[in-house]
Amino acid sequence: MEIDASTHQKVQKLLPWMLDATLSGAERSMVSEHLLQCAECRADLDWQRQVQSARPAMQAEPDVERAFAALSARLDPVVRSPRPRQGIVAWLHHVWHSLRPSPWQHWAMAAQCALIVGLGLVLFKAPPDAPGQFHALSATPSPAENAAAAGNVMVLFKPETPERELRRILQAHGAHIVDGPTVTDAYVLYLPPAGRDAALAALRRELAVALAEPLDGGAGR
Ligand SMILES: [Zn+2]
Repeated sequence: MEIDASTHQKVQKLLPWMLDATLSGAERSMVSEHLLQCAECRADLDWQRQVQSARPAMQAEPDVERAFAALSARLDPVVRSPRPRQGIVAWLHHVWHSLRPSPWQHWAMAAQCALIVGLGLVLFKAPPDAPGQFHALSATPSPAENAAAAGNVMVLFKPETPERELRRILQAHGAHIVDGPTVTDAYVLYLPPAGRDAALAALRRELAVALAEPLDGGAGR
């Protein structure tokens, strides 16, 4: 059966409200009927449902500026110099604002919240720089091992990047995946400290790399 393009457009806009069960009877039956015919809308609805279930307990329309303020406050103990902190926050801003516009906005924002919480957790895995602690605890990994476990670079690949190409890029620059992909195809990578800055610059030159940002400031450690 042929899918009516204008119905498809309407349904795409209504999908978020389908999940919330806030559609009127007529809208609801239009969406239900269209979903039976349209695999794309079914997949989108399913994706939105997953995003919603993964969404942390926060307001449906989070205040962006407040979210970033809270995030940068949480980053303080880990990221010491102000420059990298700005880098990360600016990068998150960029990701946030480069999202597809409505009707996805509502859901994309929820997805971004999940990313931010994820990034916060990633950064929190790195202990604050307190050498005394490392020596006080016998089984504690070395600072270098900690850095490797936490990752030192965040990379955002372009969405159309094939997995084969992604693997080639990681191998070419000696990068290990620490975490990811997130909902926006971002990866937390570990680059060996010795060649970190050069590898970061090389990553940025890759066509498939939309963004590559250090997570631990300029100096490799
Ligand atoms: Zn459709």
